[in-house]
Amino acid sequence: APLVRLAGVGKHYGNIIALQDVSLEVSAGEVVCVLGDNGAGKSTLIKIVSGLHRHDSGTYEVSGEEVRFGSPRDALDRGIATVYQDLAVVPLMPVWRNFFLGSERRRGIGRLDIDFMRRTTKSELLEMGIDLRDVDQPIGTLSGGERQCVAIARAVHFGAKVLILDEPTAALGVKQAGVVLRYIVRARERGLGVIFITHNPHHAYPVGDRFLLLKRGRGIGYHRKDEVTREE
Ligand code: ADP
Ligand code: ADP
Repeated sequence: APLVRLAGVGKHYGNIIALQDVSLEVSAGEVVCVLGDNGAGKSTLIKIVSGLHRHDSGTYEVSGEEVRFGSPRDALDRGIATVYQDLAVVPLMPVWRNFFLGSERRRGIGRLDIDFMRRTTKSELLEMGIDLRDVDQPIGTLSGGERQCVAIARAVHFGAKVLILDEPTAALGVKQAGVVLRYIVRARERGLGVIFITHNPHHAYPVGDRFLLLKRGRGIGYHRKDEVTREE
């Protein structure tokens, strides 16, 4: 079974139909890009997948089992991690500290294991292709692309099976966007399923295995890489 499967999902806010009969599947080692203009329903879709909202109709399955998450915590417990555009990082804290933020208790790591945290941060970033000379520097001194990469590496390290990336390249220049795109490919190589939300087809096409095109809440196109055509 795919890691994530939405079938015929709908969601409305009052009178506004935000999503209607949308289907999506993500398997291990696969990048699914969700494209669409503002208001197309991209955020609503990822809020459902990440446990922030519940769908009104259709089904949501994780590894073949139907789920109705009550919170993002529930989704995280099933290995579904979301990296939002406005990252929850503390700019003045060192990179390694941000990497482990909120995780000490969960992992049983004592406050004094700083050396361990430094080494882990460095090696996890290296594993994902980022060679950071100094993990003691405040995370605020990194570029936007590098910060995104730290957030992605963090999710991978703490056991994510599915990564939901909300416009990770939107605020970045060409070079920094390239850094993040390479990182997405790396996550796929490590066997994760990735849902990559973007309004930029030029960012989606090089890394995507499948593409879901949303328009006014409906999936108007769903294609594998080898059959990409332009719709409307
Ligand atoms: P067909 O119409 O023969 O099913 P498609 O290319 O439309 O061919 O679909 C291929 C597979 O992808 C089918 O199993 C279909 O159910 C599924 N599929 C179609 N659209 C979507 C979508 N938006 N999200 C997820 N899966 C989809
Ligand atoms: P996108 O992320 O593609 O820009 P959204 O999922 O944010 O699209 O929005 C889909 C539709 O739902 C839009 O018409 C938007 O105005 C509406 N919408 C989104 N969030 C809310 C909300 N909390 N309350 C009412 N309407 C909303």
